Amino acid sequence: MKSEWVLSKDHLSYWLRQLRNERELIGPLRDGGKDILFRTVDMLHEIVLECPSSLPSPKGFLFPQYEAMFSCRGLSLSDGSDGKREISDLRDRTRRVIFGVRSCDVSAVRLLDAFCLGKLRDPYYEERRRNTFLISLVCNNPDPTCFCLGLGTGPYLEEGFDIQMTDLGDRYFVQAGSPEAVRTVRAMNFFFRKPRKVDYEDQYEVFLSSKARFRKRINLEGPRQAILSGKVGDDFWQEVTDRCFECGGCSYSCPVCTCFTVTDRINPEGIERARLWDSCMFKGFTRMAGGVLPNEKRVQRTKRWYYHKLVHYPRTTGKFGCVGCGRCAVACPGKIDMARTATKIKGLALKEEVE
Ligand code: SF4
Ligand code: SF4
Repeated sequence: MKSEWVLSKDHLSYWLRQLRNERELIGPLRDGGKDILFRTVDMLHEIVLECPSSLPSPKGFLFPQYEAMFSCRGLSLSDGSDGKREISDLRDRTRRVIFGVRSCDVSAVRLLDAFCLGKLRDPYYEERRRNTFLISLVCNNPDPTCFCLGLGTGPYLEEGFDIQMTDLGDRYFVQAGSPEAVRTVRAMNFFFRKPRKVDYEDQYEVFLSSKARFRKRINLEGPRQAILSGKVGDDFWQEVTDRCFECGGCSYSCPVCTCFTVTDRINPEGIERARLWDSCMFKGFTRMAGGVLPNEKRVQRTKRWYYHKLVHYPRTTGKFGCVGCGRCAVACPGKIDMARTATKIKGLALKEEVE
């Protein structure tokens, strides 16, 4: 039996209210000015669904920009502990449902899973992931910078989602992709009905019209092959690097990037160990004892960023380390981004073939 239903738009807020009884509800909200960010939803009517696809990703709820890991008292007598050592696990165990996630970001979470839940398991990510339920929306209005279509990471997914919803005008087509999603819908089945022929047809039409709206059609396999066959020389990477300001915006906005650093903060109550986002575009990234910098030159770092996404990821996971969300194009002040760089590499490879 297929796990598909239809939800009338009139019932959406009732359903979300029910979900909120069990979990913290996160959704896209307007944040003071005109930015739209994923935040805790207090007022359901404030959820903004008509927003750009490149709004900041919800990655921070699984892999926060600042994450307190544990605290320790008793390392010194001045923290009021009488010398008794006390370690507190600060892992976040909040149960969350994130509503309004884009398909490309669901694909990015699957890449985060591959990185954080592989051979070396990250217990902090694992805890958050176990407690996070994603409700994604099929993207029917891609931004000009989006290129998930060429990567198979959007605008809709065949699998890998918890719940995927397609806007059919007055109703949503709802697909449950995990056992928990099926349980969630069945527990509130009074909101849902079984799909009819017209619902399937409307969903198919939305899929087709969404695909037709993409301006960028980029496949990263050509650039990967060009890099592997040695057609992309250091002069190309130098040219890209010359426009880089080392701001880290590409890494910080990317839903797939996972560079982090760890720091200890000393406060009157003891020590707190935390991890923070970092960027391999920064000179000090992975600085070693004695001050050695593995990638001291800027060009080495730019090259590494692209090699990681275009060569290393496919080798280790079978997928690119990019989901085509286009956020690096929005973030970069130097006009360096995955789509532009991939297109240039393709052009370079073609030129070589002709010559
Ligand atoms: S590399 Fe750029 S386009 Fe690809 S996932 Fe990261 S931010 Fe999005
Ligand atoms: S966003 Fe652009 S300028 Fe900033 S570090 Fe990345 S490539 Fe360099």
